Formats: sequence, C-alpha cells, structure tokens
Amino acid sequence: MRWLRMRMPPSLGWLCAILVWAICGTAQAQPAAIVVGDQDESIELARYGRLYEDPSGKLQPADLAQAKPSDRLPAGGTLSFGYSTSAWWLHVRLRNAGAGSGYRLLDIGSPLQDYVDVYVLRDGRTLTHVETGDRRPFANRPIAQRSPVLPLQLAPGETVDVWIRLAAYDGLHEAVKPVLWKVSAYAQDAQTQTLVFGLYYGLLLTIMAYTLFLFVSTWQGAFGWYVAYILAFLAWSVTFRGYGFQYFWPRHPDFNNQFLAIAAAASYATCGVFLIYFLDTRRHAGGGMHKVIVWSSAFAAAWILPALFGVYALTFVATIPAGLVLIGAGLATGIAQRHGIQARPARYYLVAVSMLSFGAVLYWLRMLGVLPSNVVTENALQLGSALEVLLLAFGLADQMNILRAEKLLAEQTALRTQAELAHRLEHEVQERTQELESANRRLNEMAITDELTGAYNRRHFNTVFAAEIARHNRHRAPFAFCLLDVDHFKAYNDHYGHQKGDEVLRRLSSHIRATLRRSGDQFFRLGGEEFGVVFTIDEPPDKAQAFVERIRAGIAELGIPHEHNGGGQGVVTASFGLVILGGETRNMQPEGVYALADQLLYRAKAEGRNRVVTQMV
Ligand code: GH3
Ligand code: MG
Ligand code: MG
Repeated sequence: MRWLRMRMPPSLGWLCAILVWAICGTAQAQPAAIVVGDQDESIELARYGRLYEDPSGKLQPADLAQAKPSDRLPAGGTLSFGYSTSAWWLHVRLRNAGAGSGYRLLDIGSPLQDYVDVYVLRDGRTLTHVETGDRRPFANRPIAQRSPVLPLQLAPGETVDVWIRLAAYDGLHEAVKPVLWKVSAYAQDAQTQTLVFGLYYGLLLTIMAYTLFLFVSTWQGAFGWYVAYILAFLAWSVTFRGYGFQYFWPRHPDFNNQFLAIAAAASYATCGVFLIYFLDTRRHAGGGMHKVIVWSSAFAAAWILPALFGVYALTFVATIPAGLVLIGAGLATGIAQRHGIQARPARYYLVAVSMLSFGAVLYWLRMLGVLPSNVVTENALQLGSALEVLLLAFGLADQMNILRAEKLLAEQTALRTQAELAHRLEHEVQERTQELESANRRLNEMAITDELTGAYNRRHFNTVFAAEIARHNRHRAPFAFCLLDVDHFKAYNDHYGHQKGDEVLRRLSSHIRATLRRSGDQFFRLGGEEFGVVFTIDEPPDKAQAFVERIRAGIAELGIPHEHNGGGQGVVTASFGLVILGGETRNMQPEGVYALADQLLYRAKAEGRNRVVTQMV
C-alpha cells in the first residue's frame, strides 16, 4: 500500500531501543565489524550497523565518529524514520574474512529516498563518496538500477567503514533497507524482480487494454473508471518502484517526486469513483455512505493540484486518510450488499479488496521484520494488487453478463407481450367480426322475414322460387308449390277485429311451420292472408297432395271460431292451390307456375273453400 512508505509504528522501535539500552548500558564508540565471508550471499546491513541522528544536517563521518549513536533501532533490517527533518546516518564496518577478492554490491534498498550519500573510508581516509537518491539526477548512480547500488571492492583481510547518510527533501523519509550483495546473488535477485514486475505490469496493462476495449464498445461508466483506476495505480507503482525514474524521466528528479504524489492521489480518487459506479452506491449504498465515498474521492482528487506544485509530504499525509476511508467505505458497502440486489459485484469487490489488503499487510509485516523475507512476502503487494485487479475485471465481466441476460430477458418479455397483444387483438377482431356477421345475419333475416308471422316475405320468395324452378329445370328434381288463402277473412276481421285477425294469421303460420319438417321446405307470406309453401319431394309425387291435405285439416282442427265462414263449420279454414312438378317437366317459368297455383286456388275457392285443388305438371 502507498502509505507503507510512511513511518513504521514507532512504539515497536522504541521498545527495542529501550531493551538494547538496558542490556548494553552504554553505547560503544565503534560498531563491531561485519565479517564478510566468501559464502555470504547477502547481508542486511541495518541489522548490524549503528545509527546517528544529525539534526543540523551538516555533519561529516569524521564528526560522527565522536558523536553518541542514536537509540533508535532498525526494524528487521529496514531503516524507517517516518517524518524527520534530521539527516540520519548508518555506520557499518566491513571486514573481508574470505580469501577471494571480495567484490560486492551495496544496494541502498530504496528507489525513493530523496538524498543518499555513501562514504567508504579506510583508516579514516575517504575511498569513495557517492551522492545519489531520487532528488538527484539518475546519472549520479554508479550502476543504472532503480534503487541506488554501488560497487565495493574489499581486498582479502581488508576492513572498511561505510557511512550511509539519509536525508529527506521535506522531511518525509522512505523505508530503506541497505543490503550488501554478492554479485551473483544480486544478479539473480534482480533478474527475479525483473521477471516478477514484468509479469505484473504485463497483467495490469492487459487488463487495462481489455477493459478499455469493453468501455469503448459499451460506454459503461464502470469500465471507463476502472481503466482510469488501473492507469493511475500503474503510474503510481512504476514510480514507487523506481522504474519511472530509471526509464522515463531520469533527468527530472523533482518531477519524479511530484508525479508519485499525483499518481497516489489519482489512484485514491479513481478507486472511489470506480466504487461508486461498480456497486452503484448512489442507489444501493446508504445515503450517508454514498456521500462519504463521493467526498473522499473528491478530497483525494483535490490534492492532485498541490502535488503538481511540489507539495509532496502533505499530499501523502492528507490523502492516505482519504484512501483508508475509501477502503473502509468500500468494504462496508460490499458487506452490506453481499446478500442484496448487488450481491455479485459486492462479493467480487469484497474478495478483491481483501486480496489487496492481505497483500499489503504481508508486505508491511515483512518490512517490520515480523515475517521472514521470501518469494511470497517480498511480492505480496504485487500479488495482492494483481489478484485485486484481476478479480475486479472478472466482476465487471460478470456484471456485463448479467446486463446482457437482463437485456435478453427484457427483449423476450417485450416479445411475449407483443405476441400476447397481437393475439388479443386478433381475438377481439375475430369477436367483432363474428358479432358483425351475426348482426348482418340478423339484418338479412329481418330483410327477408315477415314481421307479423315470422314467415319469409314476398321478396325472399321471389328469389327462392326462381332458384328452385331453375334447379328443377336443371336436375328434374320433383318439386311442389302450394298457394293458400284464408277463407272469408275479411268477414273475420270485420267481426272480430283486426287484432284478432292478426292473431289468426300468427297461429296459422306457426301451425304450418311446425308441419314442415324437412330442411328444404320453405314457408312464405305472399300477401295479406295469402301464404306459399315450397317443398321438395322424393316420394311418389302424389304423396305431396296428402301432405298438403294434412296442413289444411290441421288448420281447421285448430278450431279458431269464425261464425261468418260460409261453408266452414264455424272455424277458420283455408283453401289451397297445389302444383306438383314431377321429374319430366323442363323449361318451367316461375311466373307460369305461380299463375297455375293461383288458378288452382281460385278453383278451390269456387268449389266451396276449405279444400286442396292439385295439378301435376
Ligand atoms: P275469400 O274467402 O274469398 O278469400 O274471402 P276473403 O274475405 O278472405 O277475401 P278478401 O280478399 O276479400 O279479403 C281479404 C281480407 O284480409 C282483407 C283484409 O281485411 C284482410 N287482411 C289482409 N291482410 C291482413 C292482415 O295483415 N291482418 C288482418 N287482420 N287482416 C288482413
Ligand atoms: Mg281470403
Ligand atoms: Mg285474399
């Protein structure tokens, strides 16, 4: 984590110092010489050296040799002075006890310490003096490495004093871990680090490019801010590890320092905005929590400007709390949302941030000397942040999948609704059509039906009669037509009244309709009290006469009183003219058939009424 570059907890250091002071009683004038053997791969010098504080910042090794060493002790081989305006000195005495030439590399172990001065003295005489640190041009370094390294030649049996002076530009010291390396071991370690950081930055860049691609194709805010976050974090890491100074701006030490602060502030700010988009905190986090995230992000972003103008220490001091608040708020939101609608992104976020935090804690504990140095603890920060970045990318991809699934579902629902609508519409149209059809049918019925009796009317008769005659002519199908007329109906009306007369017409009609049982038989009212029946016959034609006879008898049997019905026995009767067209006729005309029936009816009237007069044609 970025804030690790800050001081280690002082309590631990003080505790150790008091212990050592209690055991040793007084400080010694010279440190015991570190015996450098042929077998020693690397020696963490701070563990064996002696510390001096120089508040004036003006002292030289010769002055310090007489001074009283500081009580402060390094934590696990790491020197960490936190905020201090003093210059700090580490003095170690090295003695080559091996038989070999004793060519070694002294790695200061910090790419960021502002001013590092290394003096190598033999018998009080300065052999080497190197002025380096990241506030001085990169070219000052004897060997081009991201952390200052200088070669050290020790002849067999030789003893030298090494004085390392550490000072800070505006009081903010870095964690410094000086190590004396055997060249082969250093080369191997450097190679491993190159591989690790190559893989690490490669991974970050790949995920960034991939997310950028997603962003360009979706324009989703979460993707865009994730790209910004990785970019800021990458910029911070490249600078923090010294690669930026080594490769990109070796001649601009001040810019190197400003840029680190800018990248740190930008990392916090983009991390916060990404959190807002990724967990949709505006809608899904509590109102207070959302505000905390927004303001912390804005606060961190606001520090980019002072950092641009070289406000270095203050930027870190101010933005680290904002970063901690953001991490805390992110974790709290993740925990609160882990079972909610945002459960999936919340869980991804929780695991990702836990990875990063776990990596940071391991890194920190190693720096403090609580955990041993090994592949895992040395690279814990890279491992943690790589997993974080990877998991969040998975989270974003998962979110996109969810979005796609939701879109598909919405599309399907819309399609189904549309289909249902179309179906309902079709159904309604069908219903309306049926209603219209039945209304039409009723209208048609009404148009061809006589209102009083329910029999078909004259108009319909004309159509049907012509069609039946034509059919008969074509197929020679036997066919009969009978015309009937109520007897002395005028007298009935006169005696019983018109309404009673209507009643008689209705009763006669229903009687006749009930007698007609075949579907082809049709009944018409042709005039006032004159009716017609059209019927097909498939029996011997003369049977038709018996059928009509039955109708006639049935009317009389209704027994409707009619006192003035001449020959009838005081009941309503009717007379019939029946024309039977056997199978042999052709070219019959409707008018002819009708006229014939009318003649026959006339004859029936003339012969005394209440009878059927038939003619076969
Ligand atoms: P005939 O036996 O010779 O047929 O004598 P008729 O009186 O029945 O014949 P006519 O044609 O002289 O009289 C027909 C009468 O039928 C005239 C009218 O009063 C009556 N009539 C015609 N249409 C209706 C009707 O819709 N309702 C009633 N109540 N009477 C009707
Ligand atoms: Mg009549
Ligand atoms: Mg009449």
